[in-house]
Amino acid sequence: MTDLVLETRGITKSFGALKASDSIDFDLRPGEIHAIIGPNGAGKSTLIKQISGELRPDAGQVFLAGTDVTQQTTRARARAGLGRTFQISELAMEDTVLQNAVLGALGASGSVWRFLKPVLSDAELVTRAEEALDRVGLLDARNQRTAELSHGQRRQLEVAVALTLRPKVFVMDEPMAGLGAEGSLTMTRFLDGLRSEAPILLVEHDMDAVFALADRISVLVYGRLIATGTVDEIRSNAEVREAYLGE
Ligand code: ADP
Ligand code: MG
Repeated sequence: MTDLVLETRGITKSFGALKASDSIDFDLRPGEIHAIIGPNGAGKSTLIKQISGELRPDAGQVFLAGTDVTQQTTRARARAGLGRTFQISELAMEDTVLQNAVLGALGASGSVWRFLKPVLSDAELVTRAEEALDRVGLLDARNQRTAELSHGQRRQLEVAVALTLRPKVFVMDEPMAGLGAEGSLTMTRFLDGLRSEAPILLVEHDMDAVFALADRISVLVYGRLIATGTVDEIRSNAEVREAYLGE
């Protein structure tokens, strides 16, 4: 038995001659935020995609709450409790904020949304969607067109879309990207409150946010995890400073 909510064992993925994931062992414990940092092209998004099911590893396994989900679809993993923030590009810009959140409750992707519109009358879906919007501070904007939202609000909406599935674990790829200082702080506070209900794998470039939030940090360089430790351990790790922090 394991109490790890998420685990990868020996995840390996190549693109041609490039090894984007080189035998990665990663795990996420209940209640924690485990950040992955590393330079551009290190393989952070590639790892996340193998965890969410968008990419199949060449070798290795992904476990969700102890169950091997390596062969499962993205959809099945979402139903099993894996919450993945959607990219802004997957939001339906002409639809309202509420419609996009309902889409999350359906566990559907943007492209499928048009076929599912009649389901909007389902009171439970709307209730869940409104709950999620309320939590990210977007309830008042629920009838606005998504295109009218600020960049920061769209980021919050992405999180709301993921929240509607009531995930057991969150996987987030750079949720602070493109947010100003104020937006980053709002998101940081929000993620801090979220960890007790769903632990978070956080890929993030904003080091202030990472140092404020992370219980553990793993450092990925050229597809290899070179270190895992607490904030203090990582900040004082000579290899990390050289390879990533540029010191
Ligand atoms: P990060 O998210 O850390 O910036 P990525 O996981 O996006 O890095 O990319 C890791 C490496 O794999 C990069 O060199 C990138 O160019 C390459 N890569 C990512 N996706 C693909 C793909 N679909 N086809 C070919 N190369 C890819
Ligand atoms: Mg990336």
